[in-house]
Amino acid sequence: MAEGTTFAMSPETSRPAAEPAGAQDARQRLEDERDTRLAQLRALDSAADGADADHLVGPQRSAVQRALQDIEAAFTRLDSGTYGTCQGCAAPIPAARLDILPHARYCVPCQQRAG
Ligand SMILES: [Zn+2]
Repeated sequence: MAEGTTFAMSPETSRPAAEPAGAQDARQRLEDERDTRLAQLRALDSAADGADADHLVGPQRSAVQRALQDIEAAFTRLDSGTYGTCQGCAAPIPAARLDILPHARYCVPCQQRAG
């Protein structure tokens, strides 16, 4: 379903000075992820222009919107300095996991417990 990531040469915008090492990368990944999800939403909306498609697109749409909420929450955690900390056990989430899932709220064991 995902098309392969495009790396647009976006101009550097604001660069807060006081962020910890890695936060810039995380912010960039989150922005990329948000762009991807917003593009998915637009694609779903154009696919759903017939009423017939709505029951097919609806669940996917909800999933994408949940992901967008998680991404927004991750931006908030970046701003408050708690990004990358598991919300279940307060342990640091491994960087490899954040590479794959930049908006992860939980470490792998907590995620599995949460189901
Ligand atoms: Zn945890």
